Parts: sequence; structure tokens; C-alpha cells
Amino acid sequence: MANTPVALLGLGTMGGGMAANLLKAGFPLAVYNRTAAKAEALAASGARVAATPAAAVKGAAVVIAMLADDDASRAVWMGADGALNAAESDAVLVEASTVSPAWIAELAAAAKARGLEFLDAPVTGSRLAAADGQLTFLAGGDGASLAKVKPVLDAMSKEIVHLGPVGSGAMMKLINNFLCGVQVASLAEAVAWIERSGLDRDKALTLLKNGAPGSPMISAISERMASRDYTVNFLLKLMSKDVQYAHATAAKSGVELRTAAAARSLFEIAAAEGHAEQDMSSVVEPLRAAGKAK
Ligand code: NAP
Repeated sequence: MANTPVALLGLGTMGGGMAANLLKAGFPLAVYNRTAAKAEALAASGARVAATPAAAVKGAAVVIAMLADDDASRAVWMGADGALNAAESDAVLVEASTVSPAWIAELAAAAKARGLEFLDAPVTGSRLAAADGQLTFLAGGDGASLAKVKPVLDAMSKEIVHLGPVGSGAMMKLINNFLCGVQVASLAEAVAWIERSGLDRDKALTLLKNGAPGSPMISAISERMASRDYTVNFLLKLMSKDVQYAHATAAKSGVELRTAAAARSLFEIAAAEGHAEQDMSSVVEPLRAAGKAK
């Protein structure tokens, strides 16, 4: 199965690590990235670098996209020289980006119109999990299609969870990231409060990490907020996007995510103040600055 030709579209924080693991597992790999320079290291490791999505998917049995958002996904699948029309007639398409279920439905319908098999399979796990091949895929779609791509997804992951029909993976991912985003935003407020309260910050954060609020997210992010190390694991602008998609998607089920709206407002303020391209933990910075102004 390691001779299955694979195309990977999108070589950002996540796609770069995923591509490296596909090469390590021996899959013949073609890659495309809007900014071509990000493909250079992979070319040196044996990937075929394509100038367009259409050129990348030529000959691929499995096509995986790992892109920022709905707009990026639309551009790469359906834009000029897009992947969808150029994909081989027996290819299985996998949208691994965190995108809205509404867009997944549209993309899946377009794939079906071409007679192509399609799965949504967004991931949990961040930059290091992508680099280490330790992601979890949240898959939606036909079980037989998933079985076909399993050896390819296995090379990038520790777990593949089949959640149901197309769109189930995207839905689950937004529920997951809604809870992640709300925790990060709430933690930012707690850290600003701790710092202004006169408490010993490290002692306070250790108590929180070891106590009931101490989720893996709170533990990891509190360290980044304390050290102010905003090396990108998860871009702030992408978490802002995720809570926005979660808010809009839950509303369609008649559930108003008020806490997502509150979290989004914190991410938007931080983005407006220049933190969009930093790690999401930098959402604490405007709260710190507001304290100094008083
Ligand atoms: P990233 O580093 O920002 O990479 C985004 C990718 O999308 C890049 O390849 C970028 O190309 C491409 N892109 C953006 N806009 C585009 C457009 N209009 N047309 C064509 N390509 C476009 O993001 P990432 O962290 O790898 O995340 C990728 C996806 O995985 C996102 O949906 C994110 O929410 C999700 N995710 C991320 C994490 C994480 O911890 N980072 C974890 C789980 C899931 P350029 O290089 O040219 O900009």
C-alpha cells in the first residue's frame, strides 16, 4: 500500500509535518502550496512539487487538503487550476482542514457530481503531533472509502475515528475547538486577573493546572502565556475562525453559543492589535496592556 500515490495540498504548520510523515512512510508524494517556498524542504526529501493544485493531483489515488479555512479550501479545490476537476476518476478526496460543515456539504456534492469518493477528516493534535505522526483524524463519510485511505492516514496519525456520514468529522471538530477556544480565552482573562491581583503567578497557575480546571489545554497554554513564548503551534487567527464557524454552525441546530461569541471577541481584539499571526496564547496580551493603561 506504501506505493499508493498521494497528493497533499497545503504545507502550513500542519500540512508540512503531515507531508514529511507521508514521505517517511514511503508514499510517492506530490505537494502543492500557494507559497511555493514552503515546499522546498519537501522537494529535497523526495516530494514532487507542483505549481498548481491540478498538477499536484495528477496520478494521485488519494488527495488530501490541509488548508486554513473555507475560502482557502474553495480556492484550492475549485479555483483556477483547482484539484477537483483535475482529480483522477478513481481518486479518494480527503478534506482534512478545519472548515464549516456547510462548505463540506457543498464540496461533497461537487465531488459526487464528478463521481468521486469524498471524506471529511479534520484532525486533533497540534504542530508537534503533526510532525510526530500522532494526529487523530475525525472522519465523516463512507466506511469503504475510509478503509481505502486508512493506510495513508495511518502514516500521519495515532487514531482514526469514524463519526458517521460526510460532515460528521467537520461537526465534531468544531465542537472540539469551540471548547478549546473558550478555555484559551477564559484562561487569558484569568492570567490577566492573576497578574493584576498581586498573587504569585507561577504558584497560582500551578494550582490551576493541578486542580479541577487543569485540562491539557489549560496546562499547555498557561505555560505559553506565562513565558510569552508565542512560537506558532496554532495561529490565533485560525482559532478565531474556528469559534466563528462553531457559533454559526450550532445556531443552525438552534443552540446559541454565547461563550463562543465572547471568546471570539477576545480573539478579534488580539488580531486587531497585531497578534493574528502569533500563537493563539497571545490572546492574553491586549488584556495585559489594558491593565497597564489603568
Ligand atoms: P497555516 O500554517 O496557516 O497553513 C494554512 C495553509 O492554507 C497554508 O498552506 C496556506 O498557504 C494555505 N492557504 C491559506 N489561504 C489560502 C488561499 N486563499 N488559497 C490557497 N491556499 C491558502 O495553518 P495550519 O496550522 O497548518 O492549519 C491548517 C488547518 O488545520 C486549519 O484549518 C486549522 O484550523 C487546522 N488545524 C490546525 C491545528 C494547529 O494546531 N495548527 C490543529 C488542528 C487543526 P500559504 O502558505 O501560501 O499561506
